[in-house]
Amino acid sequence: MKLWQISGVAVLALALTACGSSQKTVDAQPSAGASSGAANVLVGVTMPTRSSERWIHDGDNVKAQLEKLGYQVDLQYAEDDIPTQANQIENQITKGAKLLIVAAIDGTALTSQLQTAADNKIPVISYDRLIRNSPNVDYYATFDNFKVGVQQATSLLKGLEAKKGPYNVELFGGSPDDNNATFFWNGAMSVLDPKIKDGTVKVVSGQTDFKTAATLRWKAETAQKRMEDLLTRYYGGGKKVDGVLSPYDGLSIGILSALKSSGYGTSGQPYPVVTGQDAELASIKSIVADEQYSTIFKDTRKLAEQTVKMADAVLKGGKPEVNNTKDYDNGTKVVPSYLLESVIVDKTNYQQEIIDAGYYKADQIK
Ligand code: BGC
Repeated sequence: MKLWQISGVAVLALALTACGSSQKTVDAQPSAGASSGAANVLVGVTMPTRSSERWIHDGDNVKAQLEKLGYQVDLQYAEDDIPTQANQIENQITKGAKLLIVAAIDGTALTSQLQTAADNKIPVISYDRLIRNSPNVDYYATFDNFKVGVQQATSLLKGLEAKKGPYNVELFGGSPDDNNATFFWNGAMSVLDPKIKDGTVKVVSGQTDFKTAATLRWKAETAQKRMEDLLTRYYGGGKKVDGVLSPYDGLSIGILSALKSSGYGTSGQPYPVVTGQDAELASIKSIVADEQYSTIFKDTRKLAEQTVKMADAVLKGGKPEVNNTKDYDNGTKVVPSYLLESVIVDKTNYQQEIIDAGYYKADQIK
C-alpha cells in the first residue's frame, strides 16, 4: 500500500468519527469515495477579490472539493491589492503548503514568490488567469479564453440583428495586467474586425485598440465613467448606441448605469445590446429584465473540479490530465493547460443553462 493510500484510509476513518459529532457541512467532509489526500497536507489557495461573485464561488468550490479529498486548505482573498496577494503566498509557503493554487491579480507580479515556492519544491497551479514571466508555474486550469471572446462578439452580433444596421458600437476591454483580457479581446475582434471593415459595425468613437478600451482591475466605476464620456463626446444630436462589447458582468452593470443616466432603458429608447461574462446574479436578473443582453457562463464548479483533480494528481506524484499544450505561453514557457468550455447565456436559455443546471435557484432571480 502506498503512503497516500494509507493516508486516505486514515482520513476516511477520521471523517467517519467526525460525522457523528460535528456540524460541518456535507461539502466540507471527506466523502466516502475520497481515495486520496492527507489530513496534514496543506494546500494554499489565493483568489483576487471578493468584490466579484465569481471568485467567491471559485474559492468556495475549490476549498470544499479539496477538503472532500482530505486536504487542509488555506484560502485567501486580496481585494485586488497586489502586495497583499504576494504576502498571502509567502505566508502559505511559510505555513508549509505543499501546493499552491493561484488566481493572480497581476499576472506578472508574483515572480519572486514563485521562485521561493520552487526553491521549496512546491508546485504551482495557475487558476483561471495565467501567471506570466515565471518558469515556476506547473499547470494551468482555465476556460478557452479566446473562445469566450468569440462568444461575446457572436452574441453581440446576434442581438444587433433585431435592429437596423449599420450598427453604432462601443468596445470595452478587461484589465491589461490580466492575461485573459487580451485573449477575450482578440477572440472578440476576430469576429468584429471583418464587420468593422465591411461597415456593418461602426465604432463611433474610433477607439478600437485594446489599450484605449482596457479597464484596469476590471473596475465597474472605470467602465461607467468611460461610457459616460463616450456618450457625451460622440453621441450628441440624437445619435444612438446600438451595442456595447463588455467583457465582464461587473463592467456591464456600470455601462448600463451610464446608459440609464443618459436616457436609455425606456420603451422609446431601449438599451443597446450589452454583453458580459460570468453569469453573475445581478446580470442574470438584468438579462431577465431586458437590460443586459447576454453573458458568458463559465461553470466555476467545473473549473474547481478540474483544478482539484490536477492538484490531487500532482500531490500524489502523478501527471494531471491536460488538453492544451500550445496556446498558453507565459513569456517563459508554454504552460500545460486544461481548457473548459463556456456557454453564451441570454434570455432564451438562462432557464436551462443556469437554473436547471443548479447554478442559481429560480427564486434567487426574482
Ligand atoms: C476571468 C473572468 C472575469 C474577470 C474579472 C478574468 O480573469 O476569467 O471570468 O470576468 O477576470 O474578474
